[in-house]
Amino acid sequence: METEAQREDPARPAERAPTALVAAPFPETSPLDGSALANVDATAATEVPDVIARARAAQLEWAATPARDRAAIVAKVKQRLLSRAEEIADLVHRECGKPVEEAALAEVLPNADLVDYWTQSIEELLEGTTVELDAISYPGKVGRIHREARGVVGLITPWNYPVAIPLRTLVPALLAGNAVVWKPSEVSARSGAIVASLFEGLLPEGVLCLVQGGGDVGAAVVAGDVDAVVFTGSVATGRRIAVKCAERLVPCSLELGGKDAAIVLRDCDLERTARGLVWGAFTNAGQNCASIERVYVEKAIAKALTERVVALTKALRPGVDTAVMTTEKQCAIVRRHLDEAVKAGAEVLAGGAPEEGSLAFPPTVVSVASDDLALMRDETFGPILPIAVVETEDEAIERANASRYGLTTSLWTKRINHAHQLSARLRTGVVTINNHGFTAALPAAPWTGVGESGHGVTNSPHALGELTRPRFVLEDRAGGKSELWWYPYTPVLRTIAFAMARLRGGAGFFGRIGALFQLIGALPKRLLGGG
Ligand code: NAD
Repeated sequence: METEAQREDPARPAERAPTALVAAPFPETSPLDGSALANVDATAATEVPDVIARARAAQLEWAATPARDRAAIVAKVKQRLLSRAEEIADLVHRECGKPVEEAALAEVLPNADLVDYWTQSIEELLEGTTVELDAISYPGKVGRIHREARGVVGLITPWNYPVAIPLRTLVPALLAGNAVVWKPSEVSARSGAIVASLFEGLLPEGVLCLVQGGGDVGAAVVAGDVDAVVFTGSVATGRRIAVKCAERLVPCSLELGGKDAAIVLRDCDLERTARGLVWGAFTNAGQNCASIERVYVEKAIAKALTERVVALTKALRPGVDTAVMTTEKQCAIVRRHLDEAVKAGAEVLAGGAPEEGSLAFPPTVVSVASDDLALMRDETFGPILPIAVVETEDEAIERANASRYGLTTSLWTKRINHAHQLSARLRTGVVTINNHGFTAALPAAPWTGVGESGHGVTNSPHALGELTRPRFVLEDRAGGKSELWWYPYTPVLRTIAFAMARLRGGAGFFGRIGALFQLIGALPKRLLGGG
């Protein structure tokens, strides 16, 4: 049985002493065809503190730039992104192995909307709001809440969506007035470089700093003088980062793994559901935090649904609809989950493990009888769709919820009102009805999880909570020489305090009347300096 702890690589670079002599950790060849990839300049972990210092020096002026001007600068990224769509999609295709169409549809196009959304809304979202204060208790006082940049944000990202995931934080973080020190995954370092190049020449020097390398460089960012850390990646790394941030008392946002369930009810639209499940499980070779990794289908429709899912899966064209997995390490985990499930009696209905050494893991459908399998419990992060039959929807919900992850869950049914009621019972950050997983691409929709899927939020105004902090400013226009609650503490003040407590509900009707008379007697004395 595989556990998260076993997924951790004990020889992770983060555990080694930082040194400028560490060999560059970047893969040299494409997972697609073994062709050579361009060289990448690695950042030594020892250089990271200087990089952060540069970012800190640049941040204050950037934060002082009006939000409207920052938005005008960042808005230019949209045109750059779209005009380089083919170049970006092709690079992601070669570096990560995903089909070009997926790279264009998931990595490029939604980010044009992302830039629009944030650049058009940031001024309003950052605008101060007034706090209403009771004029009797707090005469002459006006309070306003402002949203301030955190300062320097350390951003650490994974390889599976190497353009979309970083942009979802970079764009709002910069617009909010932060400087960002960003470390992309070592597996997708070239995609990281191309994303950073979209901002080149637009931002003042130091506002966006790219550092390239493995876990040791990421660890140096987390240990450095940053004001917040935004991390997307595995549970194991997220946990380490959370501990380090806790030691420094620095907030961290964690978007971690998933084990998404799809719950299929007997009245679903069978064709749409089957197509949705196949896409939701196999897009990006299943290397998606929100991949469908468990299907719970009601018995009445299980046979028909499974047959259609298998037929659609067998019709996927290798190299066209599906490509290859990105890393051998992940492929080995997928193999292990499948082997263990088959040994425990699971039946492979389509696909199956490829020959040893191949990253071309075909889309694989498996029928399972039990959830007591790594394949049903741990994150597989690969192209396997396990289908389990349930007697009732209650059983489906119970089994879907019995996971330490809770990123997204989908419900497939024609009874929409019923689906809304069921959604309230799901322990998950996102629920989709008759669709799956794509909402990460909606800039206005919060993307978040529960449990080991992490507590971070990307997208939507809620994400600004991670990237800014509130600053409350109170202005006192009363102009008096003293306040009721200032020194000296006297018997008159004590009378006022307890009379107020009685008047505000601490006594019955007659007690409150008595308290009112006490206040009428004591307050003027106190305010005129006589007690
Ligand atoms: P990973 O945790 O191995 O690496 C993520 C990043 O962390 C990389 O840049 C890596 O170099 C860096 N890193 C490694 N050790 C570090 C350390 N000690 N300190 C600081 N940084 C360190 O994850 P991965 O394999 O790149 O990505 C796959 C995982 O990401 C999956 O679990 C997937 O579910 C998750 N993911 C989650 C979301 C989400 O939105 N919830 C989105 C995409 C991916």
